[in-house]
Amino acid sequence: MNLEKLSIKEVHEKLIAGEISAVELCKFHLERAEKFNKTHNAFTTITNEFAVKQAEEADKRIKSGKNITILTGIPFSVKDVFSTKGIRTTAGSKALDNYIPVYTATVIQKLFDAGAVMIGKTNCDPFAFGASNENSGYGPVRNPWDRKRVPGGSSGGSAAVVAARVGYYSIGSDTGGSIRQPAAFCGVSGLKVTYGRNSRYGLFAMGSSLDTPGVLAKSMEDTAIVESIMSGNDEKDSTSSQRSTPDYFKELSKKVDFSKIKIGLPKEYFIEGLDKNIEKATIETAEFFRSLGAEIRKVSLPYTKYALAVYYIIVPSEISSNMARYDSLRFGMEKGEGYAERLLESRMEFFEPEVKRRIMLGTYTLSAGYYDAYYKKAMKVRTLVRKDFEKVFSEVDVVLTPVSPTLPFEIGEKADDPLAMYLADVFTVTANIAGIPGVSFPAAHIKDEEGKKHLPVGVQILGPQFSEELILKLAHSYQGKTDWHEKMPELDL
Ligand code: GLN
Repeated sequence: MNLEKLSIKEVHEKLIAGEISAVELCKFHLERAEKFNKTHNAFTTITNEFAVKQAEEADKRIKSGKNITILTGIPFSVKDVFSTKGIRTTAGSKALDNYIPVYTATVIQKLFDAGAVMIGKTNCDPFAFGASNENSGYGPVRNPWDRKRVPGGSSGGSAAVVAARVGYYSIGSDTGGSIRQPAAFCGVSGLKVTYGRNSRYGLFAMGSSLDTPGVLAKSMEDTAIVESIMSGNDEKDSTSSQRSTPDYFKELSKKVDFSKIKIGLPKEYFIEGLDKNIEKATIETAEFFRSLGAEIRKVSLPYTKYALAVYYIIVPSEISSNMARYDSLRFGMEKGEGYAERLLESRMEFFEPEVKRRIMLGTYTLSAGYYDAYYKKAMKVRTLVRKDFEKVFSEVDVVLTPVSPTLPFEIGEKADDPLAMYLADVFTVTANIAGIPGVSFPAAHIKDEEGKKHLPVGVQILGPQFSEELILKLAHSYQGKTDWHEKMPELDL
């Protein structure tokens, strides 16, 4: 019955009709997870027993007819940077190889409460620091379209798993592009919400003023379903928004009046070095919206050229502060005797090179004498980047841009050059700096340089704060008219 290809709504209907039980569905996906993991290293932990228990509970709920949600009994996965009570949570770092949290992140708890079934924790760059998954202490995840290539990062495991149709969606986090870029590299949909829309409680803090939990799924429809359930105010996160959450899924069925929509193409996102295929796919997507009646306008976001520099000062600064908690005393792997020695030795031994690099960078930018020159200056330019967007959104409703300047690159291609790797984030960090939402979705599939493998090309739509509804709808109207669901990597699972 090609269970893996179904949408969340379709599987939900099968579960309710009793055509399949949640336990059967769960075992089907656990088997796929095990197989996929052998070749693609996408999970840090597959939660076999836990999943079956949750599925049994879901079956009870379905049988009783009470307390059923659209996610009851539906398998999903979680990036390993979200705390899950009683389940090993590594954050993709060897430093937390043995860590078992005592509480569950709010966004994950909301899904559990809805009856969702977690089949595993996905591999990621350590503490979400990276753009290719190669920084992970557990080895790189492989791209399901081409095993030689990276799946993107840092939510690479989540994106790969969704593309492989192992479970129906995955929860990731986006601090500078970690949902949108891997979604683009693996040919799936990704939603980075407005800062504060989804609770950060239980998400390992990276850049606390930029971190956003979010959904990766096969389609915008599935994304909207999950987002509606996991978002909303949380008293445990003081930065979480008080606004009520719309039913995004329901909103998708309402037609967009394209004659009223203005889409901007910011010239700063069509720069030298941008892959020609990606440029073409972005323009063609704009043309598609024009054919529906939207107005396409060239716009300018002049401070974009400073955004990457601002990001790589603010984020390491926040990281250096957030990483102070990993002292190997309260949790984490232990090495050395006595406080000072233990702190030093455990970090030297277990932190991956990129983790050390960012702590050092951030300690430098926050240190006396440099704080004003770097951090304070970066915070001022951050305001300018935000204002850029405010101004543009007074002219157009949303902007359409590439997600990444390159196609998924080969494993090892950039691994030794941190600066080249940071450049991969040039089009994604702006949304986090400004706190605005963005969706990434596949717009084309092309042959690689050797003319062989098909690779996905992602584009993103960015909108003003709390415009999730609009950007989801726009992306959905694009997907609805394409054969995206036929375009998934072929795998023998
Ligand atoms: N690639 C970016 C970085 O390395 C973004 C990471 C993220 O969003 N978690 O910082």
